Amino acid sequence: MSEKKEAIQFPNIRRSNDIDPVEWDLRVKLAAAFRLAHHFNWDLLIYNFISVRLPGPEGHLLINPYGLSYDEICASNLLKIDKEGNNLVEHPLKTTRAGFIIHGAIHDARPEIGCIMHVHTPAASAVCAMKEGLLPLDQEAMVFTDRLAYHELEGIPLGLDERARIVESLGDKPFMILRNHGLVTTGKTVGQAFSYMYFLELACRNQLAILSTGREINVPSRKIAEQVPQQFDTHDPQNTGHEFGELQFAAMMRRLDRMDQSYRQ
Ligand SMILES: [Zn+2]
Repeated sequence: MSEKKEAIQFPNIRRSNDIDPVEWDLRVKLAAAFRLAHHFNWDLLIYNFISVRLPGPEGHLLINPYGLSYDEICASNLLKIDKEGNNLVEHPLKTTRAGFIIHGAIHDARPEIGCIMHVHTPAASAVCAMKEGLLPLDQEAMVFTDRLAYHELEGIPLGLDERARIVESLGDKPFMILRNHGLVTTGKTVGQAFSYMYFLELACRNQLAILSTGREINVPSRKIAEQVPQQFDTHDPQNTGHEFGELQFAAMMRRLDRMDQSYRQ
């Protein structure tokens, strides 16, 4: 294992021994999610966000600072912000209004959500631009049967007034297609939000592959599609008791550790 790579760090940012162990664990997992998003080519220069809600009634969030590439993010250089988007820990960088609007709105309205992930990829853009949205043509897509909300594009989300409409569009669903824009997944944990994003983004790529064949398509029955979310979420052949996302994300963190452990700094 390599520990030679150094993460970008800033002076005056508190290190792990100054931070509550629960927060530090969340920082390490969130930093891992950014590195893995980079690994899977889901990043967009310095744009887009993955956010974590810290335990407690204050609704404080961990989020990426605007200006860092996902492969530069590490546990100690993540921002800690309040509900208004202000930095709570001294940091030379800030988040952006767009990040705070989408993620802040959802975290505020749905306190049970621990992590929100948002990506744009070519396949996601293609499906987000299709009138029909995500079609139930394979198992990956059927994971999202009746669990996907849709939100109409209002331009780059810079206005605070869009927050209420984002929340209304999401309703009580865990996942959302931002039309002509990108994908949103949520989870109780970083591992859940990340692992569902893996399947949602893959479902978009699969849909493009299926439609590009130009052949007649076999559409599974509605009854079959309805069964898949529960089958998928509760699949636990070794009776570990782990919820979906935990074993998957732990395996991906081990992959990351074999490549570059600097996200843990
Ligand atoms: Zn976006």
